[in-house]
Amino acid sequence: MRDVLPPDSARRRALVARFASAMELAGYAEVVVPILEELGVFERMGEATDVVTKEMYDFTDRDGRQVALRPELTAGVVRAFVQHRPQLPWKVWCGGTNFRHERPQKGRYRMFDQVGVETLGVDDPDLDVEVVALAWQFLANVGLQQVTLLVNSLGDHDDRSRYSEAVRAHFEAHRDALSEAALVTLDRNPLRLLDSKRPADAEVIANAPRLVDHRSDEANEHYERVLGGLRSVGVPYVEAPLLVRGLDYYRRTTFELASGSLDAAQNALGGGGRYDGLSEDLGGPPTDGIGFALGVDRVLLACDAEDAFPAPDNSVVAFVVDLVGGGAARDITHELRAVGLAADRRFGGGSMKSQMKSADRSGAAFAILVGEDEMAANEVTLRPLRGHDGPGGEQRRVPRNSLVEELQRLAPSMGTAQIAHETDGNG
Ligand code: AMP
Repeated sequence: MRDVLPPDSARRRALVARFASAMELAGYAEVVVPILEELGVFERMGEATDVVTKEMYDFTDRDGRQVALRPELTAGVVRAFVQHRPQLPWKVWCGGTNFRHERPQKGRYRMFDQVGVETLGVDDPDLDVEVVALAWQFLANVGLQQVTLLVNSLGDHDDRSRYSEAVRAHFEAHRDALSEAALVTLDRNPLRLLDSKRPADAEVIANAPRLVDHRSDEANEHYERVLGGLRSVGVPYVEAPLLVRGLDYYRRTTFELASGSLDAAQNALGGGGRYDGLSEDLGGPPTDGIGFALGVDRVLLACDAEDAFPAPDNSVVAFVVDLVGGGAARDITHELRAVGLAADRRFGGGSMKSQMKSADRSGAAFAILVGEDEMAANEVTLRPLRGHDGPGGEQRRVPRNSLVEELQRLAPSMGTAQIAHETDGNG
């Protein structure tokens, strides 16, 4: 399990806030679903996937119920849909922590965060275009340029089953040429073999039956309209006929966003697709669904690699330097905060020099010096720091009761800097 420390924590929060506002501008409202659910909710994702069979943190609770920490967001959101039956179409975004018992490595953790959207109740291929474009656009807005959008269509339920059988027959006929690991996958879920990255299996995979030959006319038409829509809105894509993705519930459109700046084994920033059967599987009415999830940790790793989305500047406006001890520094700091000016101070006194070091390190725009002279005159000294100390920004004495006004005049937009950061990433 992982800790997220400053300043990474602020950057992560800014990324999620950026996602939230982008999705809300597109009509998606937030839904919050439990981190812990009945095991059955997640088992619907597919009994043949690693996520369910090998990676789930499941246990029996004190009432003897089988429960699990969520390994992904979609199943819980669709379970909430089935339970509450909101009006259709239901367009929601969701974010939070998931747990998978994977082998931890860079970009792959046992505890990781995702953000994503789900829409229920719309069959229109233009919705697929909307959802794919939202994911793509978000990554572009964050500043990532090395992202490839891979798209495929798995066909309808029956297409998928027929194709799965054809693929199984093909791999069975070539068992001798497959790796040990591939044979295990073959027995559980032959489709998963198609996106295996093991070199040993590459040749058999290359000659596998093709999905296009097994897709129904309706599924093909849906797919063509999605591709046409993506071209029309200017979202570049690469068709990936072998892209099947890990979870069992996908139908028709599937897609993945791969980063060119991460190691190939962990280069997926996110993905999604249609899951037209999931509502029924969870006991609800037949309802079309489509969504995606982005891995927050991965997106931030890609941002590191591409020098994008720096940690937000959460520095305070004013840093109070206390040269007299006593309560003045405490009261002034409180006064500034009370009107929404971001302020910090040092505790424990110390020399002017060491306190100024703290002030500089805080990134504050102004140091507020509280010394003997100032106290006697009921004033403070306002010393401009970093970037505010140019012409016109000389140090000066200010009556204590006009300090707030003075700081608000000098830094009109900075008083609310903290609040702005919370809603808008790197400002
Ligand atoms: P999935 O739910 O498996 O389709 O994953 C969607 C996205 O979540 C992936 O593309 C990754 O960016 C991210 N992700 C999945 N598993 C992990 C993990 N164990 N650690 C970090 N990120 C993950």
